[in-house]
Amino acid sequence: MKNFRNMIAVIGILITASIFLSNSTYASGGQTYEVSPDSLNVRSEPAADSQVVGSLGKGNSVMAFNEKYGWVQTYYGGEEVWVAKHHLVPVGTNSQDQSTVSQSTTDTITVTASSVNIRSGPGLDYSIIGGAGPGNQYYLVETSGDWYKVDLENNSTGWIAAWLTDSNSSETHVESVTTNNSSNDTESASNGSLNGYTIVLDPGHGGKDPGAIGLGGIYEKELVSSVASKVENQLKNAGANVITTRQGDYYVSLDERVTVSNSYQTDAFISLHFDSYPILSINGVSTYFADSTDRKLARDIQSSLASSVTLNNRGIMQGDYRVLRDTTAPSVLVEQGFISNPGDLATIQTADYQNKVASAITNGLIEYFH
Ligand SMILES: [Zn+2]
Repeated sequence: MKNFRNMIAVIGILITASIFLSNSTYASGGQTYEVSPDSLNVRSEPAADSQVVGSLGKGNSVMAFNEKYGWVQTYYGGEEVWVAKHHLVPVGTNSQDQSTVSQSTTDTITVTASSVNIRSGPGLDYSIIGGAGPGNQYYLVETSGDWYKVDLENNSTGWIAAWLTDSNSSETHVESVTTNNSSNDTESASNGSLNGYTIVLDPGHGGKDPGAIGLGGIYEKELVSSVASKVENQLKNAGANVITTRQGDYYVSLDERVTVSNSYQTDAFISLHFDSYPILSINGVSTYFADSTDRKLARDIQSSLASSVTLNNRGIMQGDYRVLRDTTAPSVLVEQGFISNPGDLATIQTADYQNKVASAITNGLIEYFH
């Protein structure tokens, strides 16, 4: 029996190896990396808060065919997926791709997010010792999990979340990424139409609070994170100053969300959610407001949504939500479909739908302010 098990194990390894070999052929010309940690999450998007779709182990090979924001895109189970580049070691230097090789040896990082905290340790629980903005560059001293230890000006060091930075420390690279994003999305709002406006984006739930749990066990908090990053990009494309109440999968209380919004000169507060209901046939998108003064904002966003997505238009509704009631800025809560409805769920998981929602919210805000 023992020999038989060993044989099965060997066959398993051979099958795994052949999968990686076929991937190599598929993505020929790219840089090959080896996974360094014992276990590495495979994600659907180049972001630490995107959905985990699988896992790789120490020594596994990764063929990169694209790189973005410190993430490497590869194939996994036939799907296009992303893994964090700082957990990968380049192997078999490929002369066809010198740029990738030189980027992988870089020891500086560039902040890509709008407002980044520098902390005393590698985690959100550590105290904030400073701040950084887009384009700020730092020398990388050390990596711990998803955190970078960097040199600060005053001869001290601090920690920055890796997912808010780009380790390919070239400004042209960052610019080309931005250009690609806008050219890929024909529905992007025109640049500058939200210039001077501060929008607080509130991705619902997070951490210990998964929000609603939909068919197939999908978490509302994960879908919300995925949409939020797209909305954030579109709003920034339109010139808005965007503040998000959470930027990863961690718990933020309703009070904290309200405090964030009320501590800025916020022009609009947008809370992002998905709906759920025990009757599976209930479907569609709706926008909630609490104060009657916010009815116009709700109407502008809902009509923009209704004209750009195919889901059932449930209209605007008044709801006594804490984040709407206690925020001083005009505020709405957008329910972008039912994760308890099979039709809605199939649609809302697609990047196409999420991009349309992002454009619709952006265009609704432009309509509201002009
Ligand atoms: Zn929710």
